Amino acid sequence: MATKRDYYEVLGVSKGASADEIKKAYRKIAIKYHPDKNPDDPTAEDKFKEAAEAYEVLSDDQKRQRYDQFGHQGVNGGGFGGGGGMNMEDIFSQFGDIFGGGGGGFESFFGGGGQRGGRRVRKGSNLRIKLKLTLEEVAKGVEKKIKVKRYEACPVCDGNGSKNGTALNTCPTCQGQGQVKRVVNTMLGQMVSSSTCPTCHGEGKTVSQKCDACHGEGRQLREEVISINVPAGVADGMQLSMSGKGNVPERGGIPGDLLIQIEEEPHPTLRRDGNNVMFEQYVSFVDATLGASVEVPTIDGKVKIKIDPGTQSGKILRLRGKGIPDINGYGRGDQLIHINVWTPKNVNAEERQILERLRESQNFAPNPGKNEKGFFEKMKEYFQ
Ligand SMILES: [Zn+2]
Ligand SMILES: [Zn+2]
Repeated sequence: MATKRDYYEVLGVSKGASADEIKKAYRKIAIKYHPDKNPDDPTAEDKFKEAAEAYEVLSDDQKRQRYDQFGHQGVNGGGFGGGGGMNMEDIFSQFGDIFGGGGGGFESFFGGGGQRGGRRVRKGSNLRIKLKLTLEEVAKGVEKKIKVKRYEACPVCDGNGSKNGTALNTCPTCQGQGQVKRVVNTMLGQMVSSSTCPTCHGEGKTVSQKCDACHGEGRQLREEVISINVPAGVADGMQLSMSGKGNVPERGGIPGDLLIQIEEEPHPTLRRDGNNVMFEQYVSFVDATLGASVEVPTIDGKVKIKIDPGTQSGKILRLRGKGIPDINGYGRGDQLIHINVWTPKNVNAEERQILERLRESQNFAPNPGKNEKGFFEKMKEYFQ
């Protein structure tokens, strides 16, 4: 790409030029190189754009200051997407400012100016639903069939809104363009301002005789059963989207999307923590002392686990891979079982007698060694 010319040079003004001088200079160049006035000069549009870019920077105090200090480097990052220059729409938005035009949307003079002009393809509105899932469904993924009410193309008129589906008339107001043009006299000569046609609302066509089934709307509200494939590992608050499953717009166009917000139902015994599943297991101190085998629930059903003799309260056991699959496919979480040793709240006379005999026993005196980690160390170990 050619190196950029100095903005002051482009506009032909001195470095100390006032805002008014800059505006006047730009106006002169814009008129001179206006591409409509120079159809035989392929460089005119480039010069026109170059001047617009220079004006964009020099007419803004902050950008001008940065430009004075750092040159093109100083303004390229901020203003107009690095080096690509300005597009025509940006340039015309300047004109309201310098030519005192009526603002809003001057249509491209250059034809083929992208989406401007002509008919727009309309998109229908999105539909939003909430989808409740159990922890098991989250863990395994599920196919859910749900009823939604959505606008679909009217089957009688095939979506165009006219009786028996007969062809539509070209809109008499805009001749099918979908936009109406207004000629405005400006410094540049005549400029064309365009806006959405008020008769056909941009569709370019009108219905002469309305379809009875949809009253000319071209769509009907209908109940449909939609099947949603929920991948494993989704989480509360996540949004899935099914494109094209939203509402069809009036008289044809692209349907909107169906947006599905995930809601997790609380599980009666298991709690989710990221991709891990947590479970609180209470054991008697007899089981904790002598060891035992207990059954714990998991999302895949019940599993037997072994409580080792001498297990301390607070110990965390890990069932590897029994958690939730990662939504992005990075493996699967674990189930963590938090052991709580249950201390009896009531004892009868016989139990009291036995326990009293054990009170002075050496083995019952707490004696935490370095293998007994405190609560905080355990948390550090499992959740770092
Ligand atoms: Zn219809
Ligand atoms: Zn029209």
